[in-house]
Amino acid sequence: MNYLNNEYDIIVVGAGHAGCEAAIACAKLGAKVLFATLNIDNIALMPCNPAVGGPAKSTLVREIDALGGVMGEVTDATYIQMKVLNSSKGPAVRALRAQSDKKEYMTYMRNIIESNSNINLRQACISGIIVENGRITGAVDEFGIEYKCRAIVLTTGTSLNGRIFVGLKDYPAGRLGEAPALGLSESLNRHGIITKKLKTGTPPRVDSRTIDYSKMIIQPGDEVITHFSFKPNRPIRKQVPCYLTRTNELTHEIIKANLDKSPMYQGLIKGVGPRYCPSIEDKIVRFSENPSHHIFIEPEGLGTYEVYIQGFSSSLPADVQVKMLRTLPGLENAHVIKPAYAVEYDYVPAIQTTHSLMSKNVQGLFFGGQINGTSGYEEAAAQGLIAGINAFNYISGREMLELSRSSSYLGTLIDDLVTKDIDEPYRMLTSRSEYRLLLRQDNADERLTEIGYRIGLVDDAQYRIYQNKQQAIANEMERIKEAKISPSDENNAILAKYSESIDRGVKAAELLKRPNITYKTLKELECAPADLSDDVCEQVEILVKYDGYLKRQEFQVEQSSKLEKYIIPENLDYSKIEHISTETKQKLAKIRPKDLAQASRIGGVKPADISVLMVMLK
Ligand SMILES: Cc1cc2nc3c(=O)[nH]c(=O)nc-3n(C[C@H](O)[C@H](O)[C@H](O)COP(=O)(O)OP(=O)(O)OC[C@H]3O[C@@H](n4cnc5c(N)ncnc54)[C@H](O)[C@@H]3O)c2cc1C
Repeated sequence: MNYLNNEYDIIVVGAGHAGCEAAIACAKLGAKVLFATLNIDNIALMPCNPAVGGPAKSTLVREIDALGGVMGEVTDATYIQMKVLNSSKGPAVRALRAQSDKKEYMTYMRNIIESNSNINLRQACISGIIVENGRITGAVDEFGIEYKCRAIVLTTGTSLNGRIFVGLKDYPAGRLGEAPALGLSESLNRHGIITKKLKTGTPPRVDSRTIDYSKMIIQPGDEVITHFSFKPNRPIRKQVPCYLTRTNELTHEIIKANLDKSPMYQGLIKGVGPRYCPSIEDKIVRFSENPSHHIFIEPEGLGTYEVYIQGFSSSLPADVQVKMLRTLPGLENAHVIKPAYAVEYDYVPAIQTTHSLMSKNVQGLFFGGQINGTSGYEEAAAQGLIAGINAFNYISGREMLELSRSSSYLGTLIDDLVTKDIDEPYRMLTSRSEYRLLLRQDNADERLTEIGYRIGLVDDAQYRIYQNKQQAIANEMERIKEAKISPSDENNAILAKYSESIDRGVKAAELLKRPNITYKTLKELECAPADLSDDVCEQVEILVKYDGYLKRQEFQVEQSSKLEKYIIPENLDYSKIEHISTETKQKLAKIRPKDLAQASRIGGVKPADISVLMVMLK
């Protein structure tokens, strides 16, 4: 395909985590895609920690997978450590986390992209959008070359007017070693789209050969591997450990003595940084009562000596960083390969988009990832997937995919972005969901595979696995309602290890409700089919043990869905509504909620305001 003359269906701008999901989804659905990115050798680069998953984020990865996205598959194929976090806690907060081989991750993703003939990869900086009659008709790059298309997905990460800070030195760059994207923000502004500034930062990278690991605590992976993807045949790979060290009084002293060289503390950086990933100087100032902070040493891959110093993000000068680092046990002789830095960049506050992630101002213009004000690979990939699916839906005249808060973390994330006026980098947390017991990493397939299959992204093999699993769960739920455990001496001897004995035949489901009884116990009691897979056992156990809580959350979903039935006309003139304060009217007019449920989640909108709106809509 000749890029100079050709027309594309969709242009995806930026081959980061959001862009890769968007481009692959559009191409799999049949669209001709131009996939433009600043540096073709940086596809799916992890510019911060080489890790995927963790609390709430693992649920997003599983949801992406259930919808037919690729992040889970790529992580499973390239991990160098896998670990289930919070494994002793409840299922709502259990989380899978992978340490990734950074280079292998990029290569694997690039192979998926290059093996799809619907995608034309191109190294180019898109510097403007072309809009006619309020609709996208193309894009233009830094050389003035125009590309025609019917929809654009912008996933530009930290590149828009990016500026890097190391100490009091700053220069234009989107990421270390990569130019900033210039022109696009201004082009968006000309079409009525507001951009604002945010900031993020990353720690230094160190040569592993200069670290004394004997002074640190080893952090191995799990012995039994759990995977992210619901697809079949996930590989079992060699694992390597991470290590734990700590900051101390001397580290803190050096940092405090150099705050006058911090661009953050000197007011050179205006954008707000991620609250949940603060820089080390922020931690020391904000939590001054804490004498020490955890620092994790994470390998960047099997084929490199580069390691990532997790928890040590900084924007202090490079020489100060070395001094700080060398105070940490095991890092006394550390050789720094790359300095820590902060980056300030433009983002597009997502209240300017709908739940489909399409701009309210320009038809056919979609946004996904860090450009929407989020932080994190998983958050980016999740939005990229939805933006990609909806760009395809838009050009095909199909209904938009808008996931509800009760369906997924993905729906919750997007609803938060488009409803709340986000002014700091948004990260997914389990506490952001009011339905977190329903939205677990273990049941993402149950919640979303049907949707992914209907859209056309989930293939038959994955769909059959899902159907078989659901059938097995249903069968087992039926079986344990009837299967009885007799009060024999052998059975009571087994039960005595975990719980009280029984003096009559007890149904397996009833026994499973007891706190210390698990499927392992049922197997010991020879009251579980030998061939039942671990994930089916896990589901049945959760459904039985948490039955009451799950029902309560389902009731909450039902209550909230009542408000969703009150659709608010897009062109409603809020200024004419009586009995609502001017401030509330302004907020409603700014966000233009699609229904009463969304209106009720806008900060400052009171139950009384919702009642007024309800009467009016009735
Ligand atoms: C310094 C730094 C620190 C970070 N710290 C954290 C952290 O602490 N915690 C955390 O969770 N996340 C952190 N991240 C964020 C994480 O890297 C991102 O959230 C994630 O990569 C965003 O994915 P994305 O797809 O939106 O953008 P990116 O992965 O940044 O990808 C954007 C892509 O778009 C391309 N691009 C941009 N503009 C154009 C254009 N005009 N034309 C063509 N191509 C373009 C870029 O080249 C890039 O390939 C950090 C990122 C950086 C750079």
